[in-house]
Parts: sequence; C-alpha cells; structure tokens
Amino acid sequence: MDKFWRAEEMIRAAAPPGVEILPVEPCPEDFLRSVHSAGYLEKIRTGALDTLESLKLGLPCGEELLNRSRLEVAGTIAAMHAALADGLACNLAGGTHHAFPGRGEGYCVLNDVAVAIRHLQSTQPERRIVIIDTDAHQGNANHAIFAGDRRVFTYSIHVGKNYPSEKVPGSLDVPLPRYVAGADYLEQLEATLAPALEEFDPSLAFWITGADPHVNDRFGQMRLDDADFARRDNHVLDLLKKRRLPTVLLYGGGYNREREHTARLHADSVLRAASAAQSWRTV
Ligand SMILES: [Zn+2]
Repeated sequence: MDKFWRAEEMIRAAAPPGVEILPVEPCPEDFLRSVHSAGYLEKIRTGALDTLESLKLGLPCGEELLNRSRLEVAGTIAAMHAALADGLACNLAGGTHHAFPGRGEGYCVLNDVAVAIRHLQSTQPERRIVIIDTDAHQGNANHAIFAGDRRVFTYSIHVGKNYPSEKVPGSLDVPLPRYVAGADYLEQLEATLAPALEEFDPSLAFWITGADPHVNDRFGQMRLDDADFARRDNHVLDLLKKRRLPTVLLYGGGYNREREHTARLHADSVLRAASAAQSWRTV
C-alpha cells in the first residue's frame, strides 16, 4: 500500500501551481448500497468471507479494509464533483474495476466508479458517461454493472489471455496479445478510442489509467516502457481535452518489480493530467 503514500509525495513535490490535494471522509454506506449488496458489505466488515472468496479478493477483510475502501469511493465521488466543476480531477487511488455487487476480486473491494456513477445518476439520469480503462486487465465488474445501461459506455484495452479469466463483454473491448509491445498497444489505443468517443459523445469521463501495462510489472503482461506511458497518457489527455470533457482520473493497478516505480508511474499520469488541465480551461 505504500505506492499511495509515495505517489502522493511525488505529486506534492512536482505539482504545478493551482493543484489542490484535499482529504475526504468515508463514503456513506447508503451510497455503497446503490451498487453493493448489504450482505457483501457485512461480510467485508466482519471478515466473514469463506476461503475461496478471500483468495479471490486477495486482501485481509475487516472493519479497517471496509473503511479504507469507503475512503477510496469517497475520493472518486469528490473527484467527480470537482471534475464537473473544474474540468479535471484525480483520486489518488481508485479504479477498483474488479469489484462486483456481491463479491470482490483482484484486490478490489468496493467499486468506486460504479458507486460514483449511480450517485450522479440519481440527480442527472440522462448524463452520458464513458469509462476509459487502460489498465492491463479487463474492467470485468464495470462491464457487468453497466451492461444494458445505454448511458454508460465501457471501453477497455487489455491483455486478452490474462486475469480475469472470465471476461464480461463491455461496450468496446480491445483485447491484445500477451506481452504486447508498447508500439502495438499504442497503435490499437489510437485506432479505437477516438472513434468510440466520437460516436458515443459523452459529457463525463472516468479514466482508469493503470500502471500495470509497464514492462517491469509482475501481473500486467504488457511491455510498455516509460516513454510509451507518456505517449499513452498524452494521447488520452489530448482526446479528452479536445472534447473539453470533464474527466476523473484514477490509478487502477500497478505491481512493478521495482516498488518505487509503481508510485512513479501513477504520479506521472497525475502530473501529466495536471499540466494538461492548466490549459484545459483556456483552450
Ligand atoms: Zn490491472
């Protein structure tokens, strides 16, 4: 978990003027119940998951985990409101795209993006929202939660034969071969994301960036280097900025063999967004 603290230190040290880093309070539980079942929340709180459920989640359950996860959801909701007001905001965590309504998988306990979207839909039911998922793994739970919701477009570019083994179809899936080279990843991203945004014409974007496409990641099975990450981030930011699309940036996964580098990749994505946002409002 030290990636969160380290990335925040890096962001504080290098953020351009005007960037604010704000604390949040845990998300109210009734918000969580717009996505998650009461039974699942209680199991997390009391540590009552069975062995298989615990293995799939990959984290020790209890009140502490629930509270930490509620903070993560609150961060995404706060960032969503800030993005709608200011153009772009980041949660220095979030993007827990493997958290289903009644079960958690792959270190994802609560689905921050889904809770934020359901919260927004309670007052703005017609808003068109895109989830852009450039994490190395498919956003299976987001796809499941928003299947059939025509107001939400789910885009995921990921390794086709990697975790999660059972994919859930999204609005647009871009499955790539294992150990895809950075240039091939970028070619596919550039060919598919722009037309999807053009056609769906959203008015809010959640971007799950992901640090795990990196060549040195333990789980991502992609081969992007640091320069490829800069190209990825700048391409997505350019598209969002051209459309003046309010954007919520989230971390997603990152498991670099060099622990410090996970934080570096997350921080760099936030810093690139922060400098793009400086001209976002003046375009
Ligand atoms: Zn991932």
